Amino acid sequence: MSNINKCIIIGSGPAGYSAAVYASRADMNPILISGPKPGGQLIDTNDVDNYLGFYKGINGKELMDHCEKHARRFHTEIINQSVINVIFSKKIGGIHKIFIDDHQKFLSTFGVIIATGSRPNFLGLKKEKEFIGLGISFCATCDGFFHKKKCVSVVGGGDTALEEALYLSKICKKVYLIVRKNFFKASKILQKQIYKKHNVEICFDSIVQEIIGNEYLEGIKILNKKKKIQKTIFISGLFIAIGHVPNTEIFENQIELDKNNFIVVKHPKNSTNKPGVFASGDVVDFRYRQAITAASSGCISALELDRYLSSF
Ligand SMILES: Cc1cc2nc3c(=O)[nH]c(=O)nc-3n(C[C@H](O)[C@H](O)[C@H](O)COP(=O)(O)OP(=O)(O)OC[C@H]3O[C@@H](n4cnc5c(N)ncnc54)[C@H](O)[C@@H]3O)c2cc1C
Repeated sequence: MSNINKCIIIGSGPAGYSAAVYASRADMNPILISGPKPGGQLIDTNDVDNYLGFYKGINGKELMDHCEKHARRFHTEIINQSVINVIFSKKIGGIHKIFIDDHQKFLSTFGVIIATGSRPNFLGLKKEKEFIGLGISFCATCDGFFHKKKCVSVVGGGDTALEEALYLSKICKKVYLIVRKNFFKASKILQKQIYKKHNVEICFDSIVQEIIGNEYLEGIKILNKKKKIQKTIFISGLFIAIGHVPNTEIFENQIELDKNNFIVVKHPKNSTNKPGVFASGDVVDFRYRQAITAASSGCISALELDRYLSSF
């Protein structure tokens, strides 16, 4: 095993760093490739209020700086490049090849932990990216609390949008649910629940046309496409729930993906269909999408990889 690595971690979000801490403490000498977004999705947010242990809340970038330092403390090697291609072996004890930015260069390894996360879909409006953390959010569980007893809006008509709207309806004064079509894509059971909520106003056939506010979100202009009526809604929070795209393009044809391109893993081990390749965090998880669940999942992959390496 001498000149072949034991553990390559792809991604530097909570899942990747958590895997790195556990893998390095188990003497796997991990190499972590940080990718196009070092620190992952949390670097886009000011307030992380629900990560256990940080009882006063913490800035997202600061939290991820702590995670990087934690991994470095146990001598994880960090390469600030991206993986552009992989070739995974089908055999137990086989060697996987991980190609980084320069295609000529590849790393050989017995074990891989994929933690490349996902990215939320945007509406494509002006000020949308600028106001992330300033009223615009992709996660009701993360940010709903900041809008307690206030008016908010959720955009989307699928399961995620209705789940977000249901969650917010319990803590917010009013929720405007903006749906592009004249029907929901969401499951019938969620639709039933949403129709029962007196503080949820459903705006079918509607799109967000404009984001209002100078330094932070103050409202939105929406258009009912059918009736051709425009109206302004004053809200403190806009929750965009029109889907997430997993960062799995480089794994196509190498690993089993589901119909939405998330990596398929066996629970509870996080093992993929290739021996020695594990996957963690949002690249697998389209349901919870939390920093703490990603970190937990990274820990599991590292522990399972350790067991795998001892098995041959
Ligand atoms: C704006 C915003 C605010 C949020 N706020 C909260 C919050 O308050 N609390 C909470 O619990 N959750 C929050 N979340 C969700 C949380 O950020 C995610 O659940 C979490 O970051 C997922 O961690 P991850 O490690 O799976 O992936 P990510 O954080 O998405 O990290 C993915 C990593 O993979 C790397 N990568 C991608 N492609 C490649 C490649 N080809 N080669 C190498 N590396 C690659 C990227 O560079 C990145 O480092 C928020 C999300 C967003 C977008």
